[in-house]
Amino acid sequence: MSKIERISNFLEENNVDMTFITNPTTLNYLTGLAIDPHERIAGLMIFKAAAPMLFTPALEVEKAKEKTSGFDVFGYEDAENPWAVIRQHVKVDVKKIAVEYSDIPLAKTEGLKSQFSGVEFVNLTPLIERMRLIKSADEIEKMKVAGDFADKCFEIGFNYSNIDRTESDVVAKIEYEMKRMGVPQMSFETIVLSGARAANPHGVPEEVKIQDNKLLLFDLGVMSNGYASDATRTISIGKPNDFDANIHAIVKEAQAAAMDFIKPGVTAQEIDGVARDIITKAGYGEYFNHRLGHGIGMDVHEYPSIVGGNDLVITEGMCFSNEPGIYIPGKVGVRIEDCLYVTETGCESFTKTNHDLMIF
Ligand code: MN
Ligand code: MN
Repeated sequence: MSKIERISNFLEENNVDMTFITNPTTLNYLTGLAIDPHERIAGLMIFKAAAPMLFTPALEVEKAKEKTSGFDVFGYEDAENPWAVIRQHVKVDVKKIAVEYSDIPLAKTEGLKSQFSGVEFVNLTPLIERMRLIKSADEIEKMKVAGDFADKCFEIGFNYSNIDRTESDVVAKIEYEMKRMGVPQMSFETIVLSGARAANPHGVPEEVKIQDNKLLLFDLGVMSNGYASDATRTISIGKPNDFDANIHAIVKEAQAAAMDFIKPGVTAQEIDGVARDIITKAGYGEYFNHRLGHGIGMDVHEYPSIVGGNDLVITEGMCFSNEPGIYIPGKVGVRIEDCLYVTETGCESFTKTNHDLMIF
């Protein structure tokens, strides 16, 4: 069944007349059209009882026709009221519209209401999340390429890092080399943090020198063919002290144990528990202050959460991160992260860079 058919079936089952899908990632996922309309309006209308329509700003109409098939494409000029243009094209009676509650701003639902009076909205987010949850072989191939680039970033970053350079220098080097390799963008702002600065899991790199005999944390990823990578390694610049080396060893053990445990049939919370138990038994449970992982695909963070309390059963084709960490304020921060895809019997990582505490 095609993606569009799956949505049509949802409309039929829930007696919904049409969709208005505006999230650029969802539009790309469903149609193959990658555009960012910014403050302008783009929307995919799938109907219970009519052919699907794709609505874009006028300047994107030609691209939409070229990149998609099976949609009646139409657009609006900046001087026109987009909602009135949509109303003119929709010939069916509309009482219920399915939208992504997680993404649509009130301005857009009000725009729809201005034309379809008395309309009710139905949440399409859970269906889209379920559809995107299981990746096809083609999607996994794209994510492997994105993972290879992340491994390349580590190689570049590790070799460039020394005590004469700043965190910002290393970030710039990695992103410059990625641009030269044709990578359109990173999947998020590259993180390089030295010593105790890595004890903030969302720390921001600054123009501060990399410290000698301290750990250095890299968290990075790229967008490649519309798919994200996301990986973390912690290395040592100079000789690590025993305390830092021990923290690294605990995180590495936790990450490896979760990796070994992941297979179809286990639950998200069980996976989180396997890694968390190791860190807790070592005495650092309070310093592992985030979930073990998150789904990944066209967005760097997507459904599902690998977290305590989530009894979602893991199945083949799911893709998510495994990223335990220990963050001790004022002392040290260690995280090791790989994103992976679930196979018939286990899982396979998208990134292959060594997990050991490598010394540079
Ligand atoms: Mn992550
Ligand atoms: Mn990350």
